[in-house]
Amino acid sequence: MIPYGRQSINASDLKAVADVLQSDWLTTGPAVIQFEEAIAEYVGARASIAVNSGTSALHVAYAAAGIRGGDEVITTPLTFVATAATAALQGARIVFADIDESTGNLSLEAARDAVTPRTRAITAVDYAGVPVDGRAFSDLAHESNALFIEDAAHAIGSTRAGRRVGEQADITTFSFFPTKNMTTAEGGAVVALDSEVELAGRRFRNHGLVRESDLLRWPNEGAWHQEVHSFGLNYRLPDVLAALGLSQLKRLETFKQRRAEVHRQYNEAFATVDGLRIPGCPTDASPTWHLYPLRVPADRRREIFDRLRAAGVGVQVNYIPVYWHPVFADLGYRRGLCPVAEEYYRQEISLPMYAGLANDQVERVIETVLQIVEG
Ligand SMILES: *Cc1c(COP(=O)(O)O)cnc(C)c1O
Repeated sequence: MIPYGRQSINASDLKAVADVLQSDWLTTGPAVIQFEEAIAEYVGARASIAVNSGTSALHVAYAAAGIRGGDEVITTPLTFVATAATAALQGARIVFADIDESTGNLSLEAARDAVTPRTRAITAVDYAGVPVDGRAFSDLAHESNALFIEDAAHAIGSTRAGRRVGEQADITTFSFFPTKNMTTAEGGAVVALDSEVELAGRRFRNHGLVRESDLLRWPNEGAWHQEVHSFGLNYRLPDVLAALGLSQLKRLETFKQRRAEVHRQYNEAFATVDGLRIPGCPTDASPTWHLYPLRVPADRRREIFDRLRAAGVGVQVNYIPVYWHPVFADLGYRRGLCPVAEEYYRQEISLPMYAGLANDQVERVIETVLQIVEG
């Protein structure tokens, strides 16, 4: 089976991990600090916070943004459930706004229509790796007394209008799950424009612990003393995994190029085929293609999906509209809420897309798709 996504691990990655395993530090140590600096430099941010998943990155983002009970968070339904679930866990009410039918990204107009006086964050997802218009979403959020959060789990290395993902949103989150553009096995990172927001995120990642003597409420307790000033969790990334991340980050440009080649080959093969739609992409975007979301006729999606899997092509569907999950249905969210996202979901099949995909595998995927769709 050719999987829909897969990590690429080479000898340098192995050595980086083995070196740390034999060092004094397994969890937070020098590799985490280096990794945080390297991520910040790569995405054009002042600093970054390494965490142990893309989900914890989102939770850190919402906590750092001060999201709490009574707040509203506007987001897209065409995403992994964590984008919304982590805000819901902070007590927010999730307001789903519909998508742009070409890219699958949150529609700026739909987000604007969803703003209320309670809106505190607008979270867009760079679906498949295609960045949203960061300037426009920032402006909308700031006019609305809210923060713009970018769930860039798909999009490390992507640029739009010459700007890197991570440079523009108030808070940007990344995931380093194995199928993503680079991996630490499990892991993620957060970047924030504002240093206070960043500090709040850094604290939330580590139980809310304060150790700086000038900030302690009771500074004369002894050298062991530390204080919790607000609740947090343990979302720390181990040094072992940060070392893998550092090594992977050096390979990310190569990964991006290979993903772009695969994307181009799929586009060429499918652009003019009746019934198929290739993923839309704004002309000023340069994505790191995490997914290749092909759209097929909705009434044939299940059959095509099943036949592809049976033929050894490990396709996936990204994503079940988030509010279809029973946890949201039980809160009163109904099907039909975001018709464009639901239609996108009904047609979508993610084809294999990863840096290690060989040309003969790409050809096999193309031939199999064409045979099933046209045959
Ligand atoms: C993968 C993903 C997440 C969650 O990341 P994990 O590292 O798997 O926790 C969140 N949002 C989106 C859009 C994702 O694709």
